[in-house]
Amino acid sequence: MTQTFPVDALKTKATPYYYYNIQLLKETLTALKKEMSSHDNYYMHYAIKANANPIVLKPIREAGLGIDCVSGGEIEAALKAGFPAESIMFAGVGKADWEIELGIDCGIRCFNVESIPELEVLNEIAHRKGKVADICLRINPNVGAHTHANITTGLSENKFGIDMAHMFDVIHRTEQMSNVNLLGLHFHIGSQILDMNDFVALCKRINELQDQMDAQGIRVKIIDVGGGLGVDYDNPLKNPIPAMKEFFDVYNKHLKLREGQELHFELGRAIVAQCGSLITKVLYVKDNTNKKFAIVDAGFTELIRPALYGAHHKIINLTSNEPLDTYDVVGPICESSDTFDTDIQLNAAKRGDLLAILSAGAYGESMASCYNCRKLPKGYALEDIMAD
Ligand SMILES: *Cc1c(COP(=O)(O)O)cnc(C)c1O
Repeated sequence: MTQTFPVDALKTKATPYYYYNIQLLKETLTALKKEMSSHDNYYMHYAIKANANPIVLKPIREAGLGIDCVSGGEIEAALKAGFPAESIMFAGVGKADWEIELGIDCGIRCFNVESIPELEVLNEIAHRKGKVADICLRINPNVGAHTHANITTGLSENKFGIDMAHMFDVIHRTEQMSNVNLLGLHFHIGSQILDMNDFVALCKRINELQDQMDAQGIRVKIIDVGGGLGVDYDNPLKNPIPAMKEFFDVYNKHLKLREGQELHFELGRAIVAQCGSLITKVLYVKDNTNKKFAIVDAGFTELIRPALYGAHHKIINLTSNEPLDTYDVVGPICESSDTFDTDIQLNAAKRGDLLAILSAGAYGESMASCYNCRKLPKGYALEDIMAD
């Protein structure tokens, strides 16, 4: 399918805002489920930090996915959207006491524990409540991901997870604790990963760890490999659906599960990135000596990825068929980093044109801020726009 934009409808809403193509999201979920359908021991937990707007959560819930959370607020958002507590995995290096209590009280499936001190606090809180908390240990596999340094998480220098060298110590610690139950191992090596060899390396590392565990007679129920599959930010209109088949083929082929083991995944970006566009209006076209700026009404307050990671999002002019011209597309925020892209080609822009900043469905609205006392952006599906 190709993305189309209902331009007349889009013109009716105050900019900037997020437009979600729910049809594309559904097709992405169908592609995902097709790859998983022949494995009844595969489970997908959508990483809700990518986008927690109820508009996108609804089709994700209807597709039968669970949720991966990294905060108490995300657990609340998932429950509010109707996801069963038993479908929630809870990761994060810095879980506060109230977040652990919330997870125990509502009966989430599993805590993905990232350190020994966290394990001790979890055991103590569960003990106080007379409960036993199911846990996976998040192991740092020291596997590099060929992605931006700020979104690699599986190297030993990153803050995430438990060192492999400490894994057996921690496993033995859990055996002595009466209020935690070791369900499995958890991994997550990074985000926006397009080189499938990175996932192959993770599989190989997990196989090694499982061999070592076999030798000690330790068997776990769950292997959770996290998320990280990337999307095509350069050609979103041509490649709106990520490489689901290639991703699952890696695990089918390279990961050696033991009898009765469940394999859990936590994709975020790959599910929602392409269905979202940030719709923004051109306020001014400023023609400086060396540069032409399209100054738009969205800024890094609505989409911070370019400023934070140097990310590129394709930008198109929805309301112009004029010949191409070259622009820096910049926002109104008082920071030079408030630049969506430089020297890009757009159909010639004038005041009032609507631009779409594509592939903004993941880590867009969910990372929005109120800097400069701006209002948080709204998000709409087509039916919400047509309804008013
Ligand atoms: C962010 C995160 C994910 C999702 O990552 P994507 O790159 O969006 O797929 C999965 N698991 C954990 C633990 C995470 O922190």
